[in-house]
Amino acid sequence: MQPLNEKTIRASFINASRQEAKKLTPPENFNSLDWESLEYLGWRDPKMPQRGYMIYTNANGETRGLLLRATEGARKAGSAAMCEMCRDVTLPCAVGMFTTRRSGQAGRDGDTLGTLLCTRFECSANVRIAPPKDPINPDPMVVVAQRIIQLDERVNSFIERV
Ligand SMILES: [Zn+2]
Repeated sequence: MQPLNEKTIRASFINASRQEAKKLTPPENFNSLDWESLEYLGWRDPKMPQRGYMIYTNANGETRGLLLRATEGARKAGSAAMCEMCRDVTLPCAVGMFTTRRSGQAGRDGDTLGTLLCTRFECSANVRIAPPKDPINPDPMVVVAQRIIQLDERVNSFIERV
């Protein structure tokens, strides 16, 4: 994704109040992020660990952000839980349940969406791990390229649903 500044990020939220967006703390590695290898920017708030954020720029160049809330303890890597964004079945990281308020009136009425996500939003790194070669997928990099596209599509459609 294209690099974003803090101001754009704070202004991008579709389901957070201005006050909530103002209170967020950027990721600790914000100044050294490798934007090119991210389909979306996701992080846990260093000061409010229950809070997570996903920031995504779609094909039309619109940047939208989600405020999420972790709802239960993370499940260990290798358990049955699968992140709904990267859908990696051999996840090297923990997956947990998050809820996010719907945008607009639905959200003001208390409507939320739940989803399983990598607890530290490692999806972009996960999809770049080359799978072992097999007869069906002789070129691991082709698989990686497909996964990157699929991750991008899933994040886009999730934000559309919110
Ligand atoms: Zn993931």
